[in-house]
Amino acid sequence: MLNFLIECKMSMGCVECGYKKHYSTLDFGHISGVKNINVSRSKSIAQAKKEIEKCEVVCANCHRTYNRLYLCKSDISNTVLEE
Ligand SMILES: [Zn+2]
Repeated sequence: MLNFLIECKMSMGCVECGYKKHYSTLDFGHISGVKNINVSRSKSIAQAKKEIEKCEVVCANCHRTYNRLYLCKSDISNTVLEE
């Protein structure tokens, strides 16, 4: 399961800057749809794939920046930042 996620991250790399040196710095960032679970908490590959469809792979830097920009734009103060 973990290997599957690592392979996913490493094969895609950060969509913003192309970073793909190490999987630990790559996150799945939700860009569309409703977030059901954290991808890393998926119990099966099928479940993970469903969530990944709603995500982009971004590195930690870009993920933070993106979340900030997104929150500013849409002004959703109640949204919990994804870690
Ligand atoms: Zn990046």
